[in-house]
Amino acid sequence: MNKWGIPIVIEILVRERDKECVYCHTPFSISERKRKASWEHIINDIRITSADNIALCCVSCNASKGNKPLAVWLGSKYCASKNINANTVAQIVKDHLRKYSP
Ligand SMILES: [Zn+2]
Repeated sequence: MNKWGIPIVIEILVRERDKECVYCHTPFSISERKRKASWEHIINDIRITSADNIALCCVSCNASKGNKPLAVWLGSKYCASKNINANTVAQIVKDHLRKYSP
């Protein structure tokens, strides 16, 4: 486990997969605060640590999403202003929407 409670194998897999924000596609930066990679639980449940619930997104998106459900957050002003929607998000997020939307 890393310090966020994410198993190391999952961390490695996700770091390989997500090279940019899964929501807004900002390439990650280690120096610029807003573009730092942060751990995201797509479903806001820290107990779900499978690779399909763990993703990397930028600090801005993470702060904006907070603990809103994904579908609700995608309808937010923040997403509208950044052109983030069900069609623009990374595949991992699309898979979620397909799997969990009613
Ligand atoms: Zn982002």
